[in-house]
Amino acid sequence: MKPVPVKPKRGIFRGRRGEPSKAPRCGAKTRRGTPCQRAKERNPHTGHLKKCRLHGGLSSGPKTAEGRARIAAANWRHGKRSKAAKEARRVLREKLAALKAKTKEEQ
Ligand SMILES: [Zn+2]
Repeated sequence: MKPVPVKPKRGIFRGRRGEPSKAPRCGAKTRRGTPCQRAKERNPHTGHLKKCRLHGGLSSGPKTAEGRARIAAANWRHGKRSKAAKEARRVLREKLAALKAKTKEEQ
């Protein structure tokens, strides 16, 4: 049997340090026109202290053509409903209809 560790486990500190009332404030303009008084929160992705969770806002999406192309590629599933696939199906349908009409004429 393994002995019980004497030292407490060390890892990422998840508690709060310091005085909460002295934490930096969000400061976003509220509907009342006054600055928001909630504490700023850390963005888990960037690590930056920005605004509170109510005033962070969602991403407005990629702006450059490169970024938009990257997002489009990331959301691409199989292309069955893409413009190219629809056009290919339309061309095939027309060819098939033409062949059917031709065979009907010959009979
Ligand atoms: Zn806020």
